[in-house]
Amino acid sequence: MLKTAETVWMECLSFIKDNIKPQAYKTWFEPIKPIKVSGNVLTIQVPTKFFYEWLEEHYIKILRVALVRELGKDAKLIYDVKMENNYSNNNPHTVRFPSSNRNPIPDQRVTVPVELNKKELRNPFIIPGIQKVKVESQLNPNYSFDNFIEGDSNRLARSAGIAVANKPGGTAFNPLLIYGGVGLGKTHLAHAIGVEIKEKYPEKTVLYISSEKFTQQFIDSVKNNTRNDFIHFYQMIDVLLIDDVQFLSGKTGTQDVFFHIFNHLHQNGKQLVLTSDKAPVDMQDIEQRLLSRFKWGLSAELQTPDYETRIAILENKMYRDGLEIPQDIVEYIAKNIKSNVREIEGVLISLVAQASFNRKEYSLALTKQIVDKFVKNTKREISIDYIQKVVSNYFEIDVATLQSNTRKRHVVQARQLAMYFSKKMTKSSLASIGSQIGKRDHATVLHACKTVDNLSETDKQFKRYVEEISKKLSF
Ligand code: ADP
Ligand code: MG
Repeated sequence: MLKTAETVWMECLSFIKDNIKPQAYKTWFEPIKPIKVSGNVLTIQVPTKFFYEWLEEHYIKILRVALVRELGKDAKLIYDVKMENNYSNNNPHTVRFPSSNRNPIPDQRVTVPVELNKKELRNPFIIPGIQKVKVESQLNPNYSFDNFIEGDSNRLARSAGIAVANKPGGTAFNPLLIYGGVGLGKTHLAHAIGVEIKEKYPEKTVLYISSEKFTQQFIDSVKNNTRNDFIHFYQMIDVLLIDDVQFLSGKTGTQDVFFHIFNHLHQNGKQLVLTSDKAPVDMQDIEQRLLSRFKWGLSAELQTPDYETRIAILENKMYRDGLEIPQDIVEYIAKNIKSNVREIEGVLISLVAQASFNRKEYSLALTKQIVDKFVKNTKREISIDYIQKVVSNYFEIDVATLQSNTRKRHVVQARQLAMYFSKKMTKSSLASIGSQIGKRDHATVLHACKTVDNLSETDKQFKRYVEEISKKLSF
């Protein structure tokens, strides 16, 4: 009996359906239409190019197995991709891609331009217009390079930012990844780059977005079946500033889609700026292929500003706000608030507010009160030493044993737990945790964290360890 495309595809589908999650099946396989079969070649139609890329990347193995069952070991697959309407020509047309049938295709093989269908764009950032799609940049004009005070702690990041702003997409700093602790100016710098580019190149499409919002938009687009619009929207951006990428940790769907957007923009010479609270080596649960791309350009750290820079930041802020505050007060703040620029600003604002509400003069006494409150409210950080003591104590071993090379099971577990809690409860990097817990490297610590996560899901006894130690550590 001659096989038709429909029957071949039906058989493939029933096999695939049994082997993948129902939601995935519904999303990625139901929309596919079988077109024809000739010899051992099946042609299927998929709605978009993205769809095709996704299938090739995620489902190629199962597609192959299914096809081989139906059409023999030389089975081949061809995709017809419906291209959306093009500006010059209103007829939808199809483009044909052969399946790699084995390996995910390299990104650069797909060079067909995907035009976006303007009418159908449903992105919250689009301002509907008759002539041109305009994107609201979401930039805060108050964050500029002018009011980002330079110091040793931020010189590299700041000048890389300026270089990128002068020549978006045209420097080696692509992506530019700015990383550092809270309140050190990552968001400020990202905006400053965008604001400067908008000034120099008004025609460029610039977009600032937090990773959280990006994730939410992606989830919504999946829900509303507008995923392709979402992707096309991001693929037409010239300068994409994406804040706090550590938020993508563990979110594989969003990471996947970001990976595609990243590749598309990067290949087309568009600029990407990313910020993160961690260095790439310390990011957990970010896919390797994405991490490796984060490292393509430049990673620049923002460190805590030194005393002179803190004074300069305070003076600049006072100047901009028209405040006159005695020098000894400024120095007192700069001496006592060290780790975070946002707190420095917070103290200054409280001081101004309290002085004006109570019609008081700025005084050192009032400043001390405010600073004390800030310092007390900033949670004291648990040290890695303390964690090692608590964990050793719990397992009734000493710290030296915990740090030793013993492979005894309970010691290994104690060591891994110490690493896990150090990662969770301190701001230390994987590398620094490893070096403090028996001179291990960052990969060992990462492995320990994953092991603890896995074991506490599968092993009840182990889960109890985690909970009990957790209790002992929180005060
Ligand atoms: P992050 O995103 O790293 O948590 P932000 O960019 O939000 O930090 O910065 C916190 C506050 O500190 C902002 O108001 C920002 O303007 C200010 N700030 C940080 N670094 C500097 C700097 N070098 N000069 C002036 N202001 C700064
Ligand atoms: Mg921020």
